[in-house]
Amino acid sequence: MALSSNSEQHSTNSVASFNVNQIRASFPILSQQVYGKPLVYFDNGATTQKPKVVLNTIEHFYNGINANIHRGVHKLSEESTSAYEAARETVREFINARSTKEIIFTSGATASINLVAFAFGEAFVKAGDEVIVSEMEHHSNIVPWQMLCERKGATLKVLPFDDNGELILSKLDEFITSKTRILAVTHVSNSLGTVNPIKEIIARAHASGVKVLVDGAQGIKHGVVDVTSLDADFYVFSGHKIYGPTGIGVVYGKEELLNALPPWQGGGDMISTVSFEKTVYNELPFKFEAGTANYIGAAALATALKFYKSVGIQAATDYETELLHYATKRLQEVEGLRIIGNAVHKASIISFVLDGIHPYDTGMILDKMGIAVRTGTHCTEPVMAHFGITGTVRASLAFYNTKDEVDKLVDGVLRVKQMFG
Ligand code: PLP
Repeated sequence: MALSSNSEQHSTNSVASFNVNQIRASFPILSQQVYGKPLVYFDNGATTQKPKVVLNTIEHFYNGINANIHRGVHKLSEESTSAYEAARETVREFINARSTKEIIFTSGATASINLVAFAFGEAFVKAGDEVIVSEMEHHSNIVPWQMLCERKGATLKVLPFDDNGELILSKLDEFITSKTRILAVTHVSNSLGTVNPIKEIIARAHASGVKVLVDGAQGIKHGVVDVTSLDADFYVFSGHKIYGPTGIGVVYGKEELLNALPPWQGGGDMISTVSFEKTVYNELPFKFEAGTANYIGAAALATALKFYKSVGIQAATDYETELLHYATKRLQEVEGLRIIGNAVHKASIISFVLDGIHPYDTGMILDKMGIAVRTGTHCTEPVMAHFGITGTVRASLAFYNTKDEVDKLVDGVLRVKQMFG
């Protein structure tokens, strides 16, 4: 990891003072046993565990406040609405958006990308135009753009990555043409761990008038995300990958852009008036929030973001980086193990393959040892195709994981190798 000496100093200090045992105590699920073994949860890329404060928010809301938002004059509805709108402000502050009008709640990153692909496509993409995605995208950041291109007769172009898992940015300028309307790229690859230089990508796209959507599903929990400083046009993420509940996600979009887009779905709350002759749409952000919102999910997401902040976002990221380095070094000691994704800048995600052993078999045996890893393509089939493999074993680490757990993983992998002779 290319760190300057100042940031190295900063990271060494923050890692030394990081109290992982205290943090683990905040996550009830982590103390359980699986098949009689202490749970080692290394599937944080798929979803993270929830701290007690998030679970408390959900319980407290259903026990004491629950009422549908925005439509009631009664006390509970007002309290519920306040909590929902306060959650919007918490998200705004967390990513440093300029206004809460720029924060749209959805059901998750997938819904967020579909929203943007549809609405941006309706407003700005026509036959003959081009949309760029990268070769390392999650299916959620490929298929909605493919659907848009099919609908409009536009062309999908794919920016490749090299064998280390780094985007080949020298090709970016030749990829962007006068027909390019939008570039959709992941902040952090969920299968390679690569942290993409999105600030630079955004600046280069903007120089040619191209808008950028950043898929922040993994990036939102890797260091501080500041959408204003990044100058992102859209930044999307899911609550459940950042210690919040499932069923809640976010689209950040620049206000002037969101204002220029048509609504995605029609229904209650996204309208100002309805008649059979003409419906007038609501203002931002409600224009994009049709139907009953997941207001309890939003409130619990706000608690999760506050919890993450209280842990210390940079300290957590530094700690995860140290764990990543330790796990990489230890796994590299295993003969016949190949790490897929060796970018210079990586988040704490390690994909690997073992010579002659199917990832699924490795995952099954590790599971019996209480170690939860993910196996398969990780919804990135083009990444697997790039390396000519059917899948990987993926260990994705969070700030509540420990070096001791990494050692258990390495011991488990050695045991798998032994079993397969
Ligand atoms: N993008 C990336 C990079 C992801 O890792 C994921 C989930 O793994 C998604 C998008 C989709 O997120 P969700 O399933 O929460 O909508």
